Amino acid sequence: MSDFVFSPPPLASLSVRGSRARFPVRRIYCVGRNYSDHIREMGGDPDREIPFFFQKPTDSIVENGSRIPYPLFTSDFQHEVELLIAIGKEGADIRLDEALDHVFGVGVCIDLTRRDVQVEARKTGRPWEIGKSFDESAPCSELVPVTSAEFPESGAIELRVNDQTRQHGDLRQMIWSSAEVIQQLSTQYRLMPGDLIMTGTPAGVGPLTPGDRVLATIEGIGSLEIEIVQEER
Ligand code: MN
Repeated sequence: MSDFVFSPPPLASLSVRGSRARFPVRRIYCVGRNYSDHIREMGGDPDREIPFFFQKPTDSIVENGSRIPYPLFTSDFQHEVELLIAIGKEGADIRLDEALDHVFGVGVCIDLTRRDVQVEARKTGRPWEIGKSFDESAPCSELVPVTSAEFPESGAIELRVNDQTRQHGDLRQMIWSSAEVIQQLSTQYRLMPGDLIMTGTPAGVGPLTPGDRVLATIEGIGSLEIEIVQEER
């Protein structure tokens, strides 16, 4: 066994329904602008914009039931509920009709966003990274293994804050379907087992404050619950 100058960080991983083994996470890819009603609420035109990709750091994953401190460097911290796809099979330039064969499972995730700095970055033509890629910005549920035949193409996707519905949509509203997301992403990156994809959010994104209890659900898949707490410095 090789030595390190200090203990290496733990490998990020997610629990898997019905299994004692965990899913080791390699990368987290995210789709931007994949639901028309969310593009409109962000001031965009869904007929003129196509979805695109960005990443979050692997160590930004937090699991179901976590308490998440209100993050640094924002005064507009927002929720985006999304379908999570976990990749189980390597591939580049994947064919659309084979895309779902690369899926290990699905889950529920929240793409936590520092909206104020994201919008400022967009205005000034800078990368979105500062608004999207920060500590504890990727809460994810357990993964539910699915075959390509079982893959959820429809179903209600919802987010509630303190028992009030904030986001409500259906997976059918995705501009790029899950198969298209995998196909498109694989033209840009070789997908590997362990990759996660957050597939975009429906309308209703909004601010979170300390004390908020957030419940994200996708019909037929499961749920994810987090609590926002006061930051500790
Ligand atoms: Mn998002």
